[in-house]
Amino acid sequence: MSIKSIVFSVLFLAAIVFFAKSLSTIIKYLKLARPEYRLNNWVKRVTNIIDIVMGQTKLLREPMAGALHFLIFWGFVVLLACIIETIGEGIIPHFSFSFLGAFYPLLVFLEELMGFLVAGAVLFSILRRLFFAPQRLKVDAVHQKEAIIILSTIFAIMVTMFLTFAGRIVVEPGYLNWGRFISYHIASIFPNPETASIVGEICWWLHIVLVLGFLNYLPYSKHFHIISSIPNVFLGRVETPAILKPINFDEEGLEKFGASDVEDFSWKTILDGYSCTECGRCTANCPANITGKVLSPKEIMMKIRERSQEKFPALAAKDGAALEGIKTSLIGNYISEDALWSCTTCMACMQECPVMIEHVNPIVDMRRSLVLMESKFPEEIQVTFRNLENNFSPWAFGQSERMDWAEGLEVKTMASDKEVEYLYWVGCAGAFDMRYKKVSRALVNIMNKAGISFAVLGEEEKCNGDIARRLGNEYLAQMLVKENVTTMNNYGVKKIIASCPHCFNTFKNEYPQFGGNFEVIHHSVFINDLIKSGKIRLDKNLISRIAFHDSCYLGRYNNIYDEPRKILSSINGVELVEAARNNDKGFCCGAGGGRMFMEETVGTKVNVERTDELLLTEADTIASACPFCITMISDGLKFREADEKVVVKDIAEIVEECMEK
Ligand code: SF4
Ligand code: SF4
Repeated sequence: MSIKSIVFSVLFLAAIVFFAKSLSTIIKYLKLARPEYRLNNWVKRVTNIIDIVMGQTKLLREPMAGALHFLIFWGFVVLLACIIETIGEGIIPHFSFSFLGAFYPLLVFLEELMGFLVAGAVLFSILRRLFFAPQRLKVDAVHQKEAIIILSTIFAIMVTMFLTFAGRIVVEPGYLNWGRFISYHIASIFPNPETASIVGEICWWLHIVLVLGFLNYLPYSKHFHIISSIPNVFLGRVETPAILKPINFDEEGLEKFGASDVEDFSWKTILDGYSCTECGRCTANCPANITGKVLSPKEIMMKIRERSQEKFPALAAKDGAALEGIKTSLIGNYISEDALWSCTTCMACMQECPVMIEHVNPIVDMRRSLVLMESKFPEEIQVTFRNLENNFSPWAFGQSERMDWAEGLEVKTMASDKEVEYLYWVGCAGAFDMRYKKVSRALVNIMNKAGISFAVLGEEEKCNGDIARRLGNEYLAQMLVKENVTTMNNYGVKKIIASCPHCFNTFKNEYPQFGGNFEVIHHSVFINDLIKSGKIRLDKNLISRIAFHDSCYLGRYNNIYDEPRKILSSINGVELVEAARNNDKGFCCGAGGGRMFMEETVGTKVNVERTDELLLTEADTIASACPFCITMISDGLKFREADEKVVVKDIAEIVEECMEK
C-alpha cells in the first residue's frame, strides 16, 4: 500500500466514523420524541419519492429557483459516481470505472456536464443571495454566512474536480477520452507537465478533503436536508397531511397534553426541524406572515431544530443538572404565543414545502399545551369555548333554534325518517348564520328538485368539533365529536352531504379516528354530480363575471378545485375569472383554525388582503363554497366599501338561481 493510500484510508475512515456518530446522535434525539407510525402505504411513499424528490415537483412550483435546484440535485446524483471513483482511487491506486468500457466516456461526459452546470447554478445562487435575494431568502447574518459557506464549498468541490481532471490529462497518457470535453480545455492553462502534476495532486487532496469535510458539516447545518430530505419525504403523511392526531385522554400515565417542549412532539416533527432547508417558501406563502403577523412557519421549524439542539443532548445524557440549567422554554423564548395564535391552519406552508415538512400539527400541539395545561389563550375565544360547551355551537344560539333556518320548507329529520339515503349536515353556520341560512335553503331546494332522499339531524346536530380542535381544546372537541358519532351511528348514517368544508373535512378525515366512518360529500361535488347526471338542469342564463375563491379546507385539504369551477362554467353567460392566487396557490380568507372567532389586531387583515386581490379581477360576483369564506369576503367588501357593486354568493345559491324551476 502506498503512503498516499494509507493517509487517505485513515482520513476516510475517520470521516466516516465521525459522520456515523453525528448521525446516530440525531437518531438518538428522534427516539426521545413521541412515537408515531409512518410506514403505511408504501406505494404512495415511493410515488412521493419519484414525484417530489426525483421529479422535484414541489420546487418547480417556482420555475427559476426550481430549475436551479433540479440541476444541483441531479448534478449531485451524477457526481456521486465521480466521488466514489475518487474514494476508490484513494484506497486502491489507479482505481477507475474504466472497466465500464464504452460506457465510461459517457459517464465521464455526464460528470463533466453536470459538474459545469452545478458550478454555474451554485455561482448564480451565491450572487442571488448576495445581490438580488427574493424576500424569502433574506435571513440574519449568521444564516446568510452559513449559506454562502456551503454554496462556496460546493463550488470549490467542482473547481478542484475539474483541475484534478485537467492535470491528469496533461500527465497521464490515455486519461483523455471524449467525455472529458471541459477538462480538456482547462488542461491548456498548465504551462508544463510538472505544474499540471503538482496542481492536479493538490486539487485531488483538496477535493477529497472538501467532500469529506462537507459530509461531516452537514449534520450541523441546514444542508443536513441533503441527507434527511429523502427520508423526510418518504415518511411524510400519505393521508390528508394536516389532519390532527387525537390525544388519548385514557392513556395511562399521560400527564401532559399537547406539546410544551420538543420531547412532546412526534419524532417526525423533530426530523422536520432537521430537514428544513430554510428556503422560506412556507413563510412566503403564509397569509399570517404576508399580512404582517409575527408567525413564520420557517422560523417555527428552525426554532424546533435549535431547541432540539439545546435540549436533547441533556435529555439523551439524562443529565439532570444540565436540564435544570436550561432556563428557557420552547413556547415563549423560541416561539411566541402570538405566532401560534396567528395560524389559520390554511396549509399553504405544507403545500409549498419542498421536503414535505408538516407545520400545522406542531402548531396545534403547542396550542393544545397552552389551552389544556395552562389555560392560556386569547380572551375572546373563552366565549367561543363556552358557547361550544353550553350550546354545542360557537354562537350563543340554543339547540331549540337549530331548525329555524328551515321554516316554510319541508325538511325531514332523521328522528322522523331514518331510512333516507343521505344525512344533510347543515352545520352551525348553515343553521344560525343569517347569511348562510340562505345557502342551506338553496341546497334543500336543489336536493328537492333532484328528488334526493335526505334528512337532517335538527336539534340533535352539534358542532363538528373542528373549531375547538384547531384552537387546541382537544377535550371539548372530542366531547362534541363523540356525541355526533354516537348520534349518527345510532341512526345508521352511511352518507353525509356537508356544505361547510370544515364539517366536510372533519367528518371525512378525522371522524374515522373516533369510530365515525361515513361517505362524506361536499355540496359542490354533489351538485356537480346532479348536473352531470341531468337530475338538475341549469337553463337560465346568468350574465356575470365570477371569480371563484378556494376554501383552504376544500382545496388544499381535500383537493377539490375543479367541481365548483365546472358548475360555474356550465352556466350560460358566466365568465369565470381567477384571482392571482388560485387553486392550490389560493389565499386563505383568514377564518380557519378558529381564527373566525378571534380578533385580528396586527397588520393588514387577511380577509381584506384577499378581498383586494379578488377585486382586481373586476368580477361582479365572488363565488365560494364555504360559510367562513363567505362571511370573511363579505366583511372585506364592506371594509373596502365595494359591497354595493360586488356580491358574494355560494355555489348553491348561484345554482338555485339558474336552475329550471
Ligand atoms: S397553516 Fe397557513 S397560517 Fe398557519 S403557518 Fe401555515 S401558511 Fe401560515
Ligand atoms: S419548512 Fe419547508 S418550505 Fe419552509 S423553509 Fe423549511 S424547507 Fe423551506
